[in-house]
Amino acid sequence: MLPNVVTLLRELIATPSMSSPLPAFDQSNLDVINKLAQWCESLGFRCEIMHIAHNKANLIATLGTGKGGLILSGHTDTVPYDAKKWSFDPFQLTEFEGKFYGLGTSDMKGFFALALMAAQQFVGKPLKRPLILLATCDEETTMAGAQALVDARKPHANRALIGEPTGLKPVRLHKGMMMEGIKIIGKSGHSSDPALGHNALEAMHQVIGMLLNWRQELQQKHQHTGFIVPVPTLNFGHIHGGDNPNRICGECELHLDMRPLPTMKLKELREQLHFKVEQLLKETPFKCEFSELFSGIEAMETSKYADIVKITEKLTGYEAQSVAFGTEAPYLQQLGCETIILGAGDIEQAHQPDEFLALNRIQPMIDILTRLIAHYCLEEIHV
Ligand SMILES: [Zn+2]
Repeated sequence: MLPNVVTLLRELIATPSMSSPLPAFDQSNLDVINKLAQWCESLGFRCEIMHIAHNKANLIATLGTGKGGLILSGHTDTVPYDAKKWSFDPFQLTEFEGKFYGLGTSDMKGFFALALMAAQQFVGKPLKRPLILLATCDEETTMAGAQALVDARKPHANRALIGEPTGLKPVRLHKGMMMEGIKIIGKSGHSSDPALGHNALEAMHQVIGMLLNWRQELQQKHQHTGFIVPVPTLNFGHIHGGDNPNRICGECELHLDMRPLPTMKLKELREQLHFKVEQLLKETPFKCEFSELFSGIEAMETSKYADIVKITEKLTGYEAQSVAFGTEAPYLQQLGCETIILGAGDIEQAHQPDEFLALNRIQPMIDILTRLIAHYCLEEIHV
């Protein structure tokens, strides 16, 4: 038997598991993984802890056997927090005015508490297909946990739900995202004589012009009405070049962010970007260097006709929609899972001070998960 849902939530929130690209803020997630494994084992799940790095791991916990089945998936890490901006202790679950406050309540350690409560109801029942609870590491940074699952080709199931905060509405679409730096290297020299150097700022001007045309081409070619912004985007977010008005600018660097649609693949997009810049600077004295500021998350789309879309629409009363954030869904899709994103929290609270989960979302989410597990793991249909 498990402790009650509030105890589960409290213990998860009290176990820090922040991940960050900055080593000073990056923490292990092993305590959360061990806690989850312990709870899952008490329910009869078979647990596999998959070590990713010396202090990071995924958990694959399986109840029942057979082919098909359902994965309930979440990430165990949270983003770091700004203590000054919190009115509550981020690591102490605090109930106030109908809300549970704490870091990770909504994004998304809280999901595991609700998933376990739903799973508990199937202990001892004759499952026809397995129920898998999946907990990953480093979703907020490198997606190393999800990537390791794809590399290992596991777990095996054909349906998955990711409990990211979607306000109890099913989500079947999100864009991809990548960030790239482009550095142009020219030659500095005294401003009085242009022949003394090669102005990298002027070359960057050409590059930006070319990229604006490319963006227009991409937006004409790719459109998807399922998104609020129905075209792929390319944003120039940062530029730095040169040092003095009286010196020819020797180096200029641009940082950009691209958000492709599900029909576009990051690898091809990145290759195209490099090719276009290199072509433009070919036969000029300028050199360019690219840096992968963020290697990226692929876009995701699950067909609106997919069974998991249909059933979650029925269970929630909402048509499946799109969101403006990335998830591990593309990885689960690579593992062959029809994937839906559906969770009890709200994305507005994620990555914010005073993150909370409303109490009145808890039971409805447990009910949705319970009916989903019954549908995919217990009933005769949908092998
Ligand atoms: Zn999240």
